[in-house]
Amino acid sequence: MSTEPTDPTQAFLDRWADIAALERASAVLGWDQETCMPPAGQASRGRTLSALAGLHHEKLTDPSLAELVEQAGAVAERGSAAHAQVREAQRCIRRATAVPGELARRVAETQSRSLASWQQARRDDDFSVFAPDLTEMVSLTREVADALVAAGVAARPYDALLDDYEPGMTEQDVAPVLASLRDRLSPLVQAVADSGVVVDEGVAHGTFPGPAQEAFAREVAVALGYDFAAGRLDESAHPFSTGFGPGDVRITWRWLDDDFRSGLFGVMHETGHALYEQGLPAAWDGTPIGGAVSLGVHESQSRLFENLVGRSRGFWEWALPRFHEAFPASGDVSPDALWPALHTTRPSLVRVEADEATYNLHIVARFEIERRLFAGDVDVHELPELWDATYDELLGVHAPTPADGVLQDIHWSMGAFGYFPTYTLGNLLSAQLFAAAERDLGQLEPQFARGEFGPLLGWLRTHVHEHASRYPAPELIERATGAPLAADDWLAYITRTVADVYGVTV
Ligand code: ZN
Repeated sequence: MSTEPTDPTQAFLDRWADIAALERASAVLGWDQETCMPPAGQASRGRTLSALAGLHHEKLTDPSLAELVEQAGAVAERGSAAHAQVREAQRCIRRATAVPGELARRVAETQSRSLASWQQARRDDDFSVFAPDLTEMVSLTREVADALVAAGVAARPYDALLDDYEPGMTEQDVAPVLASLRDRLSPLVQAVADSGVVVDEGVAHGTFPGPAQEAFAREVAVALGYDFAAGRLDESAHPFSTGFGPGDVRITWRWLDDDFRSGLFGVMHETGHALYEQGLPAAWDGTPIGGAVSLGVHESQSRLFENLVGRSRGFWEWALPRFHEAFPASGDVSPDALWPALHTTRPSLVRVEADEATYNLHIVARFEIERRLFAGDVDVHELPELWDATYDELLGVHAPTPADGVLQDIHWSMGAFGYFPTYTLGNLLSAQLFAAAERDLGQLEPQFARGEFGPLLGWLRTHVHEHASRYPAPELIERATGAPLAADDWLAYITRTVADVYGVTV
């Protein structure tokens, strides 16, 4: 047997490097699966990933690791990075050990079955095909949540689920923030519909050849600070970003031939995620605090670059000459003519196609439904009706078929309850960070107009990226912006934008 360092902190970090390596191996295989694996590789890939997950779980729940972490905790100075390493390691170990192996196996089995029946239900446009597996998924997820509560991970079942994606955040923190969005956004969206204003989106339509779109998107990503020596851009059915340490952070995209917005904003979104990962400190790579702190903070980076940078007039003053060069057939468009087409507001049925203003109402709907499901107020078979009623109330739209309604998202089929709120937390935080950055750096749009994106990235590096998971997300947010997460900055931004495009205020 190899000898371990006598310093318990070093000893546990050495072990953690192996655990991180297993996570990375799975992530590389996941990237490969989405971008270039032949379809016939599916079954074998599933077995490989499952074996890696088993090894990962075994190493993470090894009692001798917990002992080492405890010894490290006894000598770590409060407030030090070593202390944060112990806190994060204990959080991960506690979550992994709280769920009995037998339950974890049942969850994994049900996940793959439930994913398949969800896909079938979408094809058949029939919720009843999915309902039995979803019922089991809900019941197993509740068992997992109860086990996590029993282990002291969280006080309440829904908090235990949320904690997996947004550590430190509770239903009690999230509910009032989402309620304030609901109160402000529903009337705003209604006022837009009543205004009768129709935005001319013709400027965003045309013929945009894939290779030209890719070249333009790459130029933009590089200007924002994405390092292609530590990254790649590939094609996939659903755009995503994935990182295997700060030196290898990859993004994917897809595009439409007749509308440049989908491809470009997708790349800017994933670039925001990737800039965060490329900015994580190399010294903490492969340690418990070395990764991104939460999904909400991750999404704040993507939304900031996609929306607050990418849809700003300043950005387009810089980008339009390059855009015209990339797409000579696009005609001469001015930033002012283009701007409204980047900020249309229209109630829609499908979350992933929703605009900035209505997107968070889609999340409010899911949050309210999930809470009721886990509070035991509604049964799975009542979901289609509840879905339609909630959409009627929040957005005034009604899905003609379940495929565009209750069946549209993959998350519940995988048991990912408590995930949706992180999208909205990210949206809100993007505006809060942008406002804080402007307090330090002055107005950013004139800088964007000159092609200067470095100061903003530098600010994010110093206030967000370089801290990785050293501080829990709520503390990181307060340190970076001087206040806890709130909806105010984002609401001010969206109200200003909607007033500008539609001439309405509420
Ligand atoms: Zn994202």
